[in-house]
Amino acid sequence: MSQEINIPELVDERYQKLQSDVLYHAMIVQSEVLRVSGEFLHQRGFIQIMPVIISPVTDPLRHFTGRAQVEYYGQVYQLTKSMIFHKRIALLAHERIFAFSPNIRLESADRAGTGRHLFEFSQLDLEVKGASRDEIMDLGEDLFIYTLGQVKERCAGQLGFFNRDLRVPARPFARVAYKDVFGQYGEDFENIVSQQHAEPVWVVDMCVEAREFYDREYPDRPGFLVDMDLLYPEGFGEALSGGEREYTLENILRRIKMTKVDLDNFKLYLEVSARGLPPSAGFGVGLERLTRFICGLPRVEDAVLFPKVPGKLSL
Ligand code: ASP
Ligand code: MG
Repeated sequence: MSQEINIPELVDERYQKLQSDVLYHAMIVQSEVLRVSGEFLHQRGFIQIMPVIISPVTDPLRHFTGRAQVEYYGQVYQLTKSMIFHKRIALLAHERIFAFSPNIRLESADRAGTGRHLFEFSQLDLEVKGASRDEIMDLGEDLFIYTLGQVKERCAGQLGFFNRDLRVPARPFARVAYKDVFGQYGEDFENIVSQQHAEPVWVVDMCVEAREFYDREYPDRPGFLVDMDLLYPEGFGEALSGGEREYTLENILRRIKMTKVDLDNFKLYLEVSARGLPPSAGFGVGLERLTRFICGLPRVEDAVLFPKVPGKLSL
């Protein structure tokens, strides 16, 4: 149902926000985040690839999001929810790849108030051929330490403006098992664990029901995945998701059938997998959430020029 929209009011609000000191400084921080994270990955032998915007195949996600699609010459393309399949397939060309990838996830309007959701956002999305989960976690720790350290140095004026005492974490980051924190705190574990910590914390070994079919199941521990999330401290919530991936056609098919998503939606990915895809691991970092965390802002939309808050019209 479409709401009554007061266009002049909506534009007034954005017109003012765009000239505010908060956005001015947050955009400088974000620009440095893009520069230094890219710099770090180049130093580690990655190459940057361009994002995919539309494709017949995209991330099924575990939670409901509306279908955003385009029809063209009788074919249906979806707007990218995440580049998971394309980054796996891109490993046929290069062994270590990353992209700054726009994602469209038509979240339900009840997520408008979380301060963490937007229906358009960007991920720093990377994948490494033949990597194990532990290797990719080490890379993630180094990436965060480098990025936060560099931004702290280069954006001292901005952090001063935000009155933000940004801690650069030390390795190794703490780890908790999904099973334990879910068992202890239930659905709200992410907020609670994030609030309890003063440095980032890994949540590892999600259960199959909690994640998409592409994360790899432990061969000797059915029902659990070789994957992880990283949570920011101080209640800022999720920083990244990732893991090792299923790569044999047999396992991919088995996992698709378990999660009951429609096989037809993944025909192209299955065709590629049948020809052989290498094992890999990777993760995706939400860039607006990272900027929000560094600046210590109350809500993710405070750190975005044109924020797409679920259910709301915006520029
Ligand atoms: N597919 C994950 C996401 O977009 C990221 C990843 O697993 O690399 O949430
Ligand atoms: Mg996630």
